[in-house]
Amino acid sequence: MDGPVAVGKSSVGLLLAKKLGYIFFDTGAMYRAFTWKSIKAGVLPENEVDLCRLAENSEIHFIPGKEGCLSILVDGRNIMDELFSPQVEKAVPAVAKVAEVRRIMVNKQREIAQRGKIIMAGRDIGTVVLPEADLKIFLTASAEERAKRRYQELLERGESLSLDAVLADLIRRDELDIHRSVSPLKPADDAIIIDTGALSLQEVVDKIYALVLNL
Ligand code: C5P
Repeated sequence: MDGPVAVGKSSVGLLLAKKLGYIFFDTGAMYRAFTWKSIKAGVLPENEVDLCRLAENSEIHFIPGKEGCLSILVDGRNIMDELFSPQVEKAVPAVAKVAEVRRIMVNKQREIAQRGKIIMAGRDIGTVVLPEADLKIFLTASAEERAKRRYQELLERGESLSLDAVLADLIRRDELDIHRSVSPLKPADDAIIIDTGALSLQEVVDKIYALVLNL
């Protein structure tokens, strides 16, 4: 399941995984986790040589976490609560566009997919990571709609950003993900595109659930 920033991949994926008894894995969390580590290590995304060395020497493990979602351990530490900090949010697209970092992450993602029935969410799952997936879904919604949803989530987490700032950041990240040369964000040729703009979360889940039952 692929799609742009804040389109609801995790919310949909988690509910769907629960309903189907599958594992849910969000690859965005993996890029965030490694970005967190690079910030801690003081390695800038432009310094690709050091960044790749760091990626090769990072122990990234996955353990069953809350509600069927895999938790990420970086060098033995659970950092799930730090993945959405503004520093990580700002740096993650620059880290994620480095080809060698992606190669290492994609290998780990493919290993995870061997664990059993899984819903994997990201930007390049249908195009690069799991091109043989049984079902490929690409979620879309307008930037304004997604910004409204993300703004609501941030308010609930007690963060105080303006709706305009959320929209600007979302457009910035989309642009970087769509226009990078390695594994840009785009639907696979055989993906089913679902516009979630006019649908409730439950309606999106039900739609995909029906597609899975029809496989
Ligand atoms: O999905 P989420 O917003 O958490 O992803 C954070 C960032 O990680 C994205 O903006 C993108 O740059 C990167 N990413 C990626 N490929 C994936 C998943 C995420 O490049 N499969």
